[in-house]
Amino acid sequence: MQDAINALSVKHPSLKFVQGKSFYWSPETSEIFYSTQKNQREALWSLLHETGHALLNHTIYKADFELLSLELAAWEKAKELATDMNLQISQDHIEDCLDTYRDWLHKRSICPTCNTKCLQQDNHKFYSCFNCHTKWGVSTSRFCRAYRSTKNIPQKIVV
Ligand SMILES: [Zn+2]
Ligand SMILES: [Zn+2]
Repeated sequence: MQDAINALSVKHPSLKFVQGKSFYWSPETSEIFYSTQKNQREALWSLLHETGHALLNHTIYKADFELLSLELAAWEKAKELATDMNLQISQDHIEDCLDTYRDWLHKRSICPTCNTKCLQQDNHKFYSCFNCHTKWGVSTSRFCRAYRSTKNIPQKIVV
């Protein structure tokens, strides 16, 4: 892991790597957080993926549907970085990660009252059910937190 960080830092001196509890890219502070708890191989892939977000200058996305295309782009960039470092990222792993996002986005868009699938409202702050008119809030999330967490279950809000 440290070798990979050193190699990436030499090649891209503007990148900042910070040890943390998980892997994510923070557009607010332009820092790449990494953790050493995962298995070595997957950890390396995650590191390259977050570096991909950083090199592509991904900032906060506005709508949920944008997230998936940014995730895909970050993986494409990660594959380029991996090739440079004589590594290979498993396509299955990439698909698994993207599926996790798809599930999570799907869950966010389901009405908590009547289970109708809904579209996010134009201001991107909440969803509104066209069937029963329930509104629920979704927090704007940072990149790469969706690892089958149940913390992101939508909350009903009063508008
Ligand atoms: Zn509803
Ligand atoms: Zn990502």
